[in-house]
Amino acid sequence: MEIEVRKLNALKKYEGEFVFDYEPPADLCLIPLCSIEGKVKVEGNYVIYDDDSVGVTLTVKYGLVGQCSYCLSDARQDIAYTTEILFVTETDEENYKYDGIKINLKTAVNDAILISQPNVLLCKEGCTGIDVTNK
Ligand SMILES: [Zn+2]
Repeated sequence: MEIEVRKLNALKKYEGEFVFDYEPPADLCLIPLCSIEGKVKVEGNYVIYDDDSVGVTLTVKYGLVGQCSYCLSDARQDIAYTTEILFVTETDEENYKYDGIKINLKTAVNDAILISQPNVLLCKEGCTGIDVTNK
């Protein structure tokens, strides 16, 4: 998951698109009894600016599977999340840093997966938990 900035600059490809399939580490899913289903689809585009900063629009798409956080039934949810980020060659507080040669998107993608994750996974909207009234 790399954007080869120096090479793209040499080719005068200052803008472009990318698509990657990313195998997320198992500990990236924070919801108990749930996991990310298969691979995460990562897509987006980049713009290389004159000062070597690179604007990236990043979309992550993935499925969460596991047990409903309230009633423990099987649950599944599709997530799609888009974020706009900037890679810079000097360290600052707000942006991602890169070495001016190539960008590795892994940290930004992991961050996007974490930010986009709901706190709970539900079997259906409005699940109220295990029904104990008739049993
Ligand atoms: Zn439920």
